[in-house]
This record gives sequence, C-alpha cells and structure tokens, in this order.
Amino acid sequence: MTIPEIDKDFLRRQLPEFAGQTADYHNEKIGKIAYKEFSGYFGSFAQRDGKSNMLRLRCSAGRITAEKLAFIAEIIRKYNISRIHFTTGQTIQLHDLSAEAAAEILEQCLDADIIPFGCGGDYPGNVLCSPLSGVEREEYFDVLPYAEAAAQYLVATIPDGKLPRKLKTGFSNSPQNLTHATMRDLGFAARPDGRFDVYSAGGLGPAPCIGIKMAEAVAPEKILYHIKAMLATFRECGTYTQRSKSRTRYLPELLGGEAAYKAAYSERLLQALQEGGLDLQPEATKITKRDFKLITGFRITSQKQPGLYAVNYHPQAGLPKIESFLALADYLQNIKAAELRLAPDQSVYIINLTAPEAAKVMSLTPDTAYNAFTSSVACIGSTVCQMGMGDSQSLLTSCFEEMATQYAASDALPQIYISGCPSSCGTHQIGELGFRGTVKVIKGTAHPAFTMYINGCSLQGSERLGEEAGTLLAEDIPFVLLEIGKHIAQSGLDFAAWQAANPQAIATIVAPYMKKIELLSK
Ligand code: SF4
Repeated sequence: MTIPEIDKDFLRRQLPEFAGQTADYHNEKIGKIAYKEFSGYFGSFAQRDGKSNMLRLRCSAGRITAEKLAFIAEIIRKYNISRIHFTTGQTIQLHDLSAEAAAEILEQCLDADIIPFGCGGDYPGNVLCSPLSGVEREEYFDVLPYAEAAAQYLVATIPDGKLPRKLKTGFSNSPQNLTHATMRDLGFAARPDGRFDVYSAGGLGPAPCIGIKMAEAVAPEKILYHIKAMLATFRECGTYTQRSKSRTRYLPELLGGEAAYKAAYSERLLQALQEGGLDLQPEATKITKRDFKLITGFRITSQKQPGLYAVNYHPQAGLPKIESFLALADYLQNIKAAELRLAPDQSVYIINLTAPEAAKVMSLTPDTAYNAFTSSVACIGSTVCQMGMGDSQSLLTSCFEEMATQYAASDALPQIYISGCPSSCGTHQIGELGFRGTVKVIKGTAHPAFTMYINGCSLQGSERLGEEAGTLLAEDIPFVLLEIGKHIAQSGLDFAAWQAANPQAIATIVAPYMKKIELLSK
C-alpha cells in the first residue's frame, strides 16, 4: 500500500496563527496556560523565562539523514542557536528561540520534511525505534522500516484532530528494549521469528505501568492495522474530559478491566483487518558500503555490515557543544551512507562509518561520556521547562563534579536517570538509579529535593519500575552517589550484583541524609 502523507498545506495554513499567538505570548498578551495548550500542537513550548521558545523537531524512528542534518546545521547557524537537546523521545529540541525565529523555523521544517506538528499536545508523538536497527549484529530483525512507516501513518492522522492525550509509540529490535516498547502507549517488540509482539496501555509519568501484551507473533506487514485499532480504541473509549485519566494506561480502568480493554481493542482490530488496505511492504535501506580496517573502543559498535562501525556520541545530558555538532554535520555531508540515529538515552549514534571515518568522528566530538555513569540521562529541567519542579541539569552537573576525580566510584556507578517532575521525561523509573524532582519544605522554606528510585529495568521480560527509596535534598545527592559508587567499586561487582548481594545497602547509605532532613525540620 501507499502510506498516506500528511497534508502539508493544511499545516502551512496554521503557521500565521502560531506566529501571532507566540508573539502575543512573548508580549504578555496571553497567559501561560492558554499558550501552553495552544503551542504544544506545533511542537513548541514556551520556556520558563516566558521570553523564548523551544521547538521539538520530529525525527521519525530517531533517524536523521545527512540531508536533514545539513538542514538542522543550517538553521543553527542562521539563527545563531546556542543550545540544542537530544531528548529521550529521540527528537532534537532547538532552545532559546525568539517568537519570530520559532515561527520561521517551523515553516522551514515543513520544506525539509521535518514535522514538529503533533510533537507536543494530544497527538501522536515521535515514533521511537532501537537506534541501531538495521546495523546491530544481535538484533532479531531490522524494525526501522516498520517504525518509519508507522510514523508516516500516525503523522498523517494529525489533521483528524486531538486524541484524549498524547500517544507514544515505540519499536524495539531486541530484548534490550532500549525504546521501552513494552512500556509505551503502543509498542512493537521484535521476536526471533521475525514477527512482533504488540503491547499497549503502558507508560511512565504519573501512575506508571508496564504495557499489556495485546497480540503475539504479528506479521510485520500487519502493524498498521494495530495502529488503526489503537487510535480508534483511544478515541472512542478514552476520556477527553478527565485529564488525569486520559492516557492510554487508564483505558483498562475506564472500560472495567484488562479483559474489557482487550475486547474493545480486538473488536476494532478485526474491523480494521476486514476493511483492509493497510498491508505494508516497506523496503529497508540497502547498505552496500564495505571496508576491512579495524577499530575498537568504548564508543565503537561493530556493525553487522563488514568493516562498518557506529560511533556513540553522548554529550552531557544530551546537550552537545554546538561547535561539535556543526563540525560533525559538516563532516558527514561527504561520508557515504553515514547518518545519525538518536537514542532514548540522549546520545546519538553515527552509523555506517569505516574505521578511519569513525576515528575522525570521535575526534570531532570530544564532549562525550566515557563510562556508564557519565552517560547518565537528565531532562532539560526546571530552569527551562515550565512544568519542572527540579533542576535536573544542575543536579547532574554537581554529581559529575563530585565524581570528577573519583575514578573508581565513577566507573562503578550505573547510568542514572533524572526527571525534573513526575512527567518522567528523564525516564527515572527505568533506571537502576533514578531521581525525580520535588521540593522539601523545611520550616516553611522550600528546598530543592529529589525522590530516589532504585532497581528499575526496561529489559524485555525483566521489566520493573523503580521503587521509591526516599527523598533527599539535591545538595546531598552527589555525596550519596559517591558513597554508593565507592561501595560498588570495593565489592568488585556491578551495580545489579552489588545490590542483590547487599539489598539493604542503599537504605543504610541514605539514612543519615534523610535523618538530616528530619532534624532540620524540628
Ligand atoms: S520531566 Fe518535567 S521538568 Fe523534566 S522536561 Fe519533563 S516536564 Fe519538564
């Protein structure tokens, strides 16, 4: 089938309204809540200062071709953008934009085939995909063509109007489940037999839950029927009036239980299958490039294509130095088959490189993580995000500073995940260690604090949401992590093994810091 494409003229007709409302908001003619409700549809939100906007560039399946990369680099230069963010939703956010710049860039995105529309608000968000799909040796199969087809199909439904709430869809190519496909509103998890298991009604954020398995061994060419069924179930059975219960994870409750939800979905799936016309036959991009030279290292993944490599670039919390990003974009313009794959941990892979090209890419991107801990994740946080309660970015920076010369502890710690509020953009519930922003009121004064989560896991078959392990003052967290890191290093184990062998250790480490809050409160 030919997958329908979004009607760009429909979107273009809405651009003047975006420009006008954004200018009005910056000039304080409309309020914060009203503007937030308006702007999300355009993939743009006002930043905390009320004078600048963020624009979220939809990168379907996390893929950025060299051509799109050149466009993004051109925009960065033209508008002198000094902050961009690789997000856990596999998008790139452009920050600190004037109203005029946000409107102009949005228009130019449409010409470059980038659709920010629907990347916020109650619409299908960016479709996620395992970042190394198609090049990873251990994958069950290449799910990227299906994720891209799903993205195109979902984007084309945007003119149909609002959903009860946003719909996040993910595809995973192996049990690594890097996109948390089994914990999304809708997820397609690859199987060894070349088919998908389909999950839905999962999600992080408030009242997080793991998805329900809706179907097993679905032929990949049939996935659009499941997407159509999910959209219909959500539109017809979800609530548009009770916002606190409007995500798909409340559908089972709204319908009277899991069995009733599955029945509602199955009924719509059957109808979609009977209507037909959505069978897919996508073509994977053929990679004919080959080489023979070798390269190894922490940042290097050897691809299934002989002699080709993927290089990981993980700037702190997904905030690359602009000069590194531009140098990378320029260099890749002349590298055959090279492209970027955004990852849900705020890093990016540069794929299809020969060994010498991989070495050059590493030299162009020195602002990168060097172990699991420095690969940690943090949302943009409360200094930028109007929803934020905690400054995730500064917490991560202070943790890195504390650990800067504590090499053994740093090497022993796992990747940590920080969200500034319950919305969970930092995916704090899936980390072995996670933190969620809050405040502690001590004698009438609010202090920055984070609730700690432990033992989360997104590996398929072992999914666990992190358990709360206490609320700590933000200023104490670097010391808590240092202690944990030292204990793990001394044990010679990794975090999971150390935690399993010492289940009370973290409670013992955090106890004095929680006692401190208690004493200060007296
Ligand atoms: S988790 Fe909260 S603070 Fe962080 S980006 Fe999301 S909404 Fe903003």
